[in-house]
Amino acid sequence: MEKKLTPEERKVIDKKQARKLLKKWQKRLRLTDWDIVIRPNSMPDNFVLQSCVGECEFQEVSKTAVIRILRPDGYGDRVMPFNFEKTLVHELLHLKFNLLERSGNDFQDRYVHQLIDELAKAFIESE
Ligand SMILES: [Zn+2]
Repeated sequence: MEKKLTPEERKVIDKKQARKLLKKWQKRLRLTDWDIVIRPNSMPDNFVLQSCVGECEFQEVSKTAVIRILRPDGYGDRVMPFNFEKTLVHELLHLKFNLLERSGNDFQDRYVHQLIDELAKAFIESE
């Protein structure tokens, strides 16, 4: 069933706004040495990973990344409301933690992912 969107959720984050938020969080998280392309309003079909709100494809050796964030009307019915900035911070933290992920230890990877999400929430709440 389709969820009714709030005005905030319906607001489409434009590219300029998205780039501004990217710059702000790149600086704050000390990730300015990464070349990052942001793709707001991505369609679910554009995602490599299914049922994700955001995803970050990166090349660790060249420090380049593409971050896709789902368009709000493709978000569906979830416990947490759509939050563009929180999703962006979560994806940027994947770059910060990239050397601890894909460790070959499933428990560690899941734990790091949980930490990433908790830290993203904490950063956004402290705004
Ligand atoms: Zn994630």
